[in-house]
Amino acid sequence: MIKKVLVANRGEIALRVMRSCREMGIKSVAVFSEADRSSMHVRYADEAYFIGPSPSNESYLNIENIIDVAKQSGADAIHPGYGFLSENAAFSERCEKEGITFIGPSPFSISSMGDKIKARTRMIKANVPVVPGTAEPITDEKLAIEKIEEIGLPVMIKASAGGGGKGMRLVKKKEDIVSAIRSARSEAKTAFGDEAVYIEKYIESPHHIEFQILADKHGNAVHLFERECSVQRRHQKVVEETPSPLMNPEIREEMGKYAVAAAKAVNYHGAGTIEFIVDNNLNYYFLEMNTRLQVEHPITERVVGVDLVKEQIKIAEGKELTLKQDELKQFGHAIECRIYAEDPENNFMPSPGVIKHITEPLGLGVRHDGYVYEGYEIPIYYDPMISKLIVWAKTRREAIERMKRALYAYKITGIKTSIPFLARIMEAEDFITGNYNTHFIEDNRDFLMQQEPCGERCKDMAVIAAFVHYTDKVEKAKGAQNGKTAQANAWKNFGRKKSIMRW
Ligand code: ADP
Repeated sequence: MIKKVLVANRGEIALRVMRSCREMGIKSVAVFSEADRSSMHVRYADEAYFIGPSPSNESYLNIENIIDVAKQSGADAIHPGYGFLSENAAFSERCEKEGITFIGPSPFSISSMGDKIKARTRMIKANVPVVPGTAEPITDEKLAIEKIEEIGLPVMIKASAGGGGKGMRLVKKKEDIVSAIRSARSEAKTAFGDEAVYIEKYIESPHHIEFQILADKHGNAVHLFERECSVQRRHQKVVEETPSPLMNPEIREEMGKYAVAAAKAVNYHGAGTIEFIVDNNLNYYFLEMNTRLQVEHPITERVVGVDLVKEQIKIAEGKELTLKQDELKQFGHAIECRIYAEDPENNFMPSPGVIKHITEPLGLGVRHDGYVYEGYEIPIYYDPMISKLIVWAKTRREAIERMKRALYAYKITGIKTSIPFLARIMEAEDFITGNYNTHFIEDNRDFLMQQEPCGERCKDMAVIAAFVHYTDKVEKAKGAQNGKTAQANAWKNFGRKKSIMRW
């Protein structure tokens, strides 16, 4: 039985993991860098330990310091969250060696899926459909051109060690092949220290649809259905929803089976995600596996009714999965918006700074996984995502309305955030109809980038302000005529007459 978990992470995910630990009666240990001394995860944890300077390679990526804290605090397990050391096979191995339970898969599963070329080869062996392309790293440029002619343009040049959309190039014309290979290689070398790249057919107008899986150490595995992640900017997810508007029950069942087969092919245990790319004719291909908890996991938790972190902990303890595939159901609809400290009007430049004021959205069907508070200074060293807003409703339409309501109520001052941009997404026709693919943001650029963030709502506000101003004047004039002041103020009068405010 796990009694104390060190959470080797920061921000909203550290808090999210600690909350589940608390519900399970498990103590939590926070680690923090210089910049995170006053972070919320440090305040929330049962114990907190300093692990180094602000840059993450000296703190959150410092394996030695983290292992030292685990020993010092008597933590019997480490949860890596996402990012940082979560997909680092050497870290998982080190934990094993030190007798600390790693709440995640084995080093073998991580390394088998961490390298995209290796993963493709394994998936082909397991009969999981992969995007047509090369099975080997591309070293010879001449051979690459021949191979691309065979596959047919357009193609994607992708880094084998890739992640976060880095080391990826779309090639449409033959004359661009060589320069794309070279630039993808050098970007991959800088970002991952590994310059191996390979070629994939470019899937036109694709959807990114991923399946959540859970597998125990006894060979049992289930999938918890899909997440639609096609609202992307620069190949990075911005909004996710489940169920996918594209999906039908037959394809869902087929893809779910492949997701489970993919996990079994690498003896997987823990929570994981199998990402697929899907074309308009519902042909689907394995893209990659993420061997950790995903940012967007809460939408699955809400629709399926499962706490994925608790499941991860139980699996790490060696317990058998109690979830049965035929008992799992999707209920209602969930959407997640990622809130970033960045300025959509200034090319999404990061906007670090001090939070002056924050009003978090509340109410039925709203979950807010964040970590910032009034007076908190967002450090420049880490990912600028400050929170995730998740809504659930019985239908997709209602979930969109609920997300709009929550985004309109969400107020942060002191820094710029992506909230207005996300509100525009909820108002975009293609999103509302569910008729979108990974080009959605590009295709709707003009609409999404309009300076006026709140559309109809602002018109309502202008009407309200004019009306209040007018009634105020009338009341005052009446009061002056009768020789007394107005009884109720104009806002009260307005509220008593009717309410057209939509949030
Ligand atoms: P990363 O690991 O860097 O996130 P992925 O392989 O997961 O890279 O791809 C990220 C996104 O890039 C996908 O969701 C999709 O939008 C786009 N993409 C990747 N491969 C292809 C492809 N072969 N055809 C079309 N789009 C692709």
